[in-house]
Amino acid sequence: MVEDEDKIASFIVKGLKAEGHTVDRVGTVLEAMDAGLGGQHDLVVLDLVLPDGDGREVLQGLRKSSSDVPVLVLSALVEIDDKVSLLDMGANDYLTKPFAFRELAARVRALTRQEQARTDLLEVGELSLDTRTRVVSRRGKQYDLPGREFSLLEYLMRHPGQVLARQQLLDAVWGINFDTESNVVDVYVLYLRRRLDIEGEPSVIETVRGVGYRLPR
Ligand code: CA
Repeated sequence: MVEDEDKIASFIVKGLKAEGHTVDRVGTVLEAMDAGLGGQHDLVVLDLVLPDGDGREVLQGLRKSSSDVPVLVLSALVEIDDKVSLLDMGANDYLTKPFAFRELAARVRALTRQEQARTDLLEVGELSLDTRTRVVSRRGKQYDLPGREFSLLEYLMRHPGQVLARQQLLDAVWGINFDTESNVVDVYVLYLRRRLDIEGEPSVIETVRGVGYRLPR
């Protein structure tokens, strides 16, 4: 979520978390640009009037970088022309402030459903992961992974064969403001290996020394 007003932001974050979403929040155009919104998030809720500029810059930045992440714009602007130009610019939906949380929640559900419909089932090597049912399986055995482990594996599976730096994994799975000195990525990779590895066989997750990790195709 890109929203500078604390009161509105905490109201929305609280509500979306209660609906089962994980939410990262930034408050400026610059932070939004730095956050890599396109690659790591299923939806962007975007306020237009930000302290350092216009939310449209964030939307344009995303579309220019070929990100098709759904964008839901929040704004007090009500002119039809504004709505049309936002949709033309690549926004997926638009909600006028003030709004009822129920309506925001319904639109978020609709937009993330559309997103998920395209990418329900991920398959890499022997692993499969269903983002809808949250079931992970390998060689016919099913695993029920806790939240962060599931998110980490999902991110690895969305980037098969790529070397992923620890910092990139931290940003993607734990959020943009996480302590960069943390060894939490290594700990969670260990958890995943303990669950998914088979004794005497190579690990499902490769260590790339000095850099990070890779999930072989
Ligand atoms: Ca604002």
